[in-house]
Amino acid sequence: LIGSYGEDKKMPVYVVGGFVRDLLLGLENYDIDIVVEGNGLEFAKYASKQLGAKMVEHEKFLTASLFFKDGFRIDIATARTEYYEKPADLPQVDISTIKKDLYRRDFTINAMAIKLNTKEFGLLYDFFDSRKDLKEGLIRVLHKLSFVEDPTRIIRAVRFEQRFGFKIEEETLRILHETLNGGFLEKVSGQRIRQELEKILGEREPLNAIKRLAQLKILKHIFPKTYFTSVMEKKLENLFNNLRIIRELYKKVNIFYSLLRILLEYYDIDTLKQVIKKYGIPKKFIDEIKATETRLPPLLNMIKYKIRFSDIYKVIGKPSAETAAHIMSYIDEEDSKEYFVEYLKRVFSTKLSISGNYLKEKMNVKNSVEIGKVMNELYCRKLDNPSINEEGELKKIL
Ligand code: ATP
Repeated sequence: LIGSYGEDKKMPVYVVGGFVRDLLLGLENYDIDIVVEGNGLEFAKYASKQLGAKMVEHEKFLTASLFFKDGFRIDIATARTEYYEKPADLPQVDISTIKKDLYRRDFTINAMAIKLNTKEFGLLYDFFDSRKDLKEGLIRVLHKLSFVEDPTRIIRAVRFEQRFGFKIEEETLRILHETLNGGFLEKVSGQRIRQELEKILGEREPLNAIKRLAQLKILKHIFPKTYFTSVMEKKLENLFNNLRIIRELYKKVNIFYSLLRILLEYYDIDTLKQVIKKYGIPKKFIDEIKATETRLPPLLNMIKYKIRFSDIYKVIGKPSAETAAHIMSYIDEEDSKEYFVEYLKRVFSTKLSISGNYLKEKMNVKNSVEIGKVMNELYCRKLDNPSINEEGELKKIL
């Protein structure tokens, strides 16, 4: 349909990028990126009207997104400049604008387009031997300055390499290292680095990509004080393996924070302050890191020896999802892990039916500090033994 709208508006329309790559690889991809030679916004308005989709415009970038009721989304962009085969030649309007648009992209495998207009529907535009690289499993930049132009492509290269089990092509790898040594990655804003790292965390096997970032010494240019060791690798492995359990217990877990807590371990306060500022992380993150650092060794022993839940509670209370994930990343033995998960489940399910007011009115305890203490003690007893009679237990405490 999009193609026929291209006919209506007399504009060449293409599907580009990841969708084409995945189509040729036989993989599913529901992110559709459309490029229009002509006014992409005008085209998007027309298409959204015809299809009854909601449209959000990003006027500055001449792009728009169409949102459909079933959650499906299409991004529409304008192919930006015209392309001249030779200076003073007439602009190659039809093919060359899409060529120029594709040339701006990160890697050859992401730089193909398929025409959607009815007459040429399905025609593949492969200007840079992308199909060959796709067949040979190579991640290759389109030109020498690609990484300098946008150093986040260094992280993207690793992500795609690991996702598809490809290899970064030799010359590309050379340029990648040259760019790294030139200090270009350090110039990128924390927000953009964070975005790319979060994309890695969204991959099916994030650890492989993180290991490769370390192996290629890219990680050193992101977190200069991190020494990636096999111990750190084991913790990350645990972290990723435990995510499913953590997600069952907590609605939300910020994996980026969890990753940082492992990568930034043993950082001094000043460096931590710089890091949280760069990546836009709340201040309390540092407190949490520091608090777990001191409590962790005794806590791990308590878990190992299956000490009462109430004693564990006195050390960590009800931990945040990230703290729980962090603690679990240190636990290698299966039964210790089970014990800690049991603890978390117990903390989530234990609620007192007696309130502070009951103590005040029925038991004549007036001092609020005292009330707090008694309630806490009662809660701890219930953690150890969920079947206690609260009123009876309260009398024992008082
Ligand atoms: P994924 O399957 O992870 O969504 P994708 O290839 O669709 O992969 P996106 O990050 O969604 O990746 O980007 C969409 C397209 O935009 C890419 O295929 C690529 O052509 C282009 N692109 C994205 N980021 C960059 C960048 N930093 N530099 C150049 N081109 C980029």
